[in-house]
Amino acid sequence: MTKLFNDPSTFMEDALAGFLDVNSRYCVGVPGGVVRAAETPEGKVAVVVGGGSGHYPAFCGVVGPGFADGAVVGNIFTSPSTDDAYHVGKAAANGGGLLFSTGNYAGDVMNFNLAQERLQAEGIDTRNVYVTDDVASAPVEEIHKRRGIAGDFVVFKVAGAAADAGLSLDEVERLAIKANDRTRTMGVGLDGCTMPGADDKLFHVPAGKMGVGFGIYGEPGIAEEDLPPAADLAVLLLDKVLAEEPADSTKRVGAILNGLGGTKYEELFVVWKTVSALLKEKGYTVVDAEVGELVTSLDMAGISLTLVYLDEELETYWTAPADTPAYKKSAAQASSGPRREALTEDDLAVEITPGSPASAQAGARAVAALEAMAAAIRDAEDELARMDAIAGDGDHGRGMVKGVTHAVEAAKPVAEQGAGVASVLAAAGDAWAAKAGGTSGVLWGAALRSLGARLGDDSDDISGADVAAAVKAGADRMQELGKAQLGDKTMLDALLPFADALAAGVAQGKPLAQARADAAQVATSAAQETADLKPKLGRARPLAERSVGTPDPGATSLAMCTRVVGEVLGTADEGNE
Ligand code: ADP
Ligand code: MG
Repeated sequence: MTKLFNDPSTFMEDALAGFLDVNSRYCVGVPGGVVRAAETPEGKVAVVVGGGSGHYPAFCGVVGPGFADGAVVGNIFTSPSTDDAYHVGKAAANGGGLLFSTGNYAGDVMNFNLAQERLQAEGIDTRNVYVTDDVASAPVEEIHKRRGIAGDFVVFKVAGAAADAGLSLDEVERLAIKANDRTRTMGVGLDGCTMPGADDKLFHVPAGKMGVGFGIYGEPGIAEEDLPPAADLAVLLLDKVLAEEPADSTKRVGAILNGLGGTKYEELFVVWKTVSALLKEKGYTVVDAEVGELVTSLDMAGISLTLVYLDEELETYWTAPADTPAYKKSAAQASSGPRREALTEDDLAVEITPGSPASAQAGARAVAALEAMAAAIRDAEDELARMDAIAGDGDHGRGMVKGVTHAVEAAKPVAEQGAGVASVLAAAGDAWAAKAGGTSGVLWGAALRSLGARLGDDSDDISGADVAAAVKAGADRMQELGKAQLGDKTMLDALLPFADALAAGVAQGKPLAQARADAAQVATSAAQETADLKPKLGRARPLAERSVGTPDPGATSLAMCTRVVGEVLGTADEGNE
C-alpha cells in the first residue's frame, strides 16, 4: 500500500518538493520537472528524460553529471503534458541541441513530439528517442509497438554519458537508438501497486502465481502462470532476453535485475545468483551489472531482467562515471586494481602448532570427554527439549546436540595434529558456539575456551589443582558473559557448585578422579534443586511461574556432562590430566 500522503491529489507535488530539497546539490525545480543544478558547458547536448511518476529513481533520480540534464515529471502513471516537456527541455538546452527520451507510450510520444515541434520552431534542435525494451509487450516483428520499462535506464545512461563526453547531437541520438536496439527486458509482476489514496491495489496477483510481462504503469501481466522457485524464474527471464540476441553480439552484456518497488533486495540477489551463473555458463561476460530498484512502479512487487548487448562504444558509455541523486558510479572504480579472492574458514583458521606432551595428552582426553558428552546428550535430546518447552522455546535438546557434535568434529583434527588442550578446546568451543544457536551455545563455547586457556598449550604437567582452576575459569567466563547469579535458574546453578566442589575436593587431597565424581554428584543435586527456582534470566523468565517444578534444562544437561566426563576419564588420570 502507498500509505503516507497528505492530500492524494498533491502527492507528486509534495514528493517532488521533498526530493528537490534533499537533492539541492544535484537538481533545481523548473516548470514541469527538474534540471541539473550545476551549469553545463555551453554547446553540450542536453539529455532530458521523463514520463509519468511513481517510478523513482526513474526519472528525476538520474539527473546529474554523467546522466540526464533534466527530467520531466508527470503525475503518477500519467504522461507529463506538452507544456511540461517543453519547459524542461527549454530550461535544459544550452546551445548544443536536445535529446528527449522516454518509454514508448502513446501519451508520452504525443506530448514529447509536440514539445519537440515547439522547441524546433524556436531553433532548438531536438530529437526524440522512445525506448522499446519490453519483449513481452509485442512480438519482435512489431518492435516499434513495444513499451519501455527498465531498459529506459540503459538508454538514458548511454545517451547522458555520451552527451557529457561532448559528442554531437547526431552522435548522441545515434547512440541512444543503438542502445535501444540492443536492449531487451523481460519482467514478471508478483503483486499490484496502490495509487496514493486508493484503498486497494490496481490489480492483484493471486498467491503462488505471477503476472508474466507486467508493465510499469500499473498494467497487469499478459499471462498468469504459477510462480516457480527463484532459480527457475531466473531461467525464464534469461531465456526471453537471450532469445533476441543480435547477430553481431560480442557476448559482453550490461545487465539490470530490477526490483519493481515491493520486492526486497535480498530476493533480487537470490535471483541474480542464478542469472549470473547461467550467463557465465553460456559464455557471456557481464559488465557492470546493476541489481536493485532502478525503475519502479510504486509498491508493486515484481522483477525484470534487462540485458544490453554491448559493443565497444556502448560499453564506454554504460560504464562511464555518473553522479546523480539515486545513481552514482565513481571514475576510480572501486573494482579496479588488484582483487581479493573469496575466503573460506580454513583460510582464516589459526595455524595449529604442536603443544607440550602433557597438554597434547590432555587435548586428546578432552576430545574423548566431548565424545562421551555427545553420546549422552543425543540420548537425552528429547527429554531436554521437553524441559525447555515448559517455559522456554523447546530447542535446548537440539541446540546441545548440534553444539557438542560440531565441537567434537572441530576438536578431533586439532588434537590429532598434536595441539595442546587450549587449542583443542578453543576449536571445540568456537564450533559449539557457532553451530548450536541459542543462549546456551554461546555460553558453553566461551566456557570451554576459557577452561582450555587456563590449562594452556605448553604446560609441563597438569595437576588436579590446575584442572579445578580451569573449570572455575570456565564458570567465571560464563558468569561474566551471561551475567547470571546463583539462584537465577540457569546452568550456573550446576556449574558453580561443581567448580567449588571440585576445587574443595582437590584441596582436601582427594585424587582428581574422586574429586571429580563427588563434584558431579553435587552438580546433579544442584541441577535437580533448580526445580524449586523461578528463572530470572533467559527465555524462560517471562513464563517463570510455569517453570516451577521442572529443573532448568541448561543446568540439567550441564550436570549430565559432568557425570559422563567423570565416567569416561575414569581413574586413569590421577595426578596427570
Ligand atoms: P535459548 O534460551 O536461547 O533457547 P537453550 O534453550 O539452548 O537456549 O538454553 C537454555 C538454557 O540456557 C537455560 O536453561 C539456562 O540454563 C541457560 N541460560 C540462559 N540464559 C543464561 C545466562 N544468562 N547465563 C547462564 N545460562 C543461561
Ligand atoms: Mg531454548
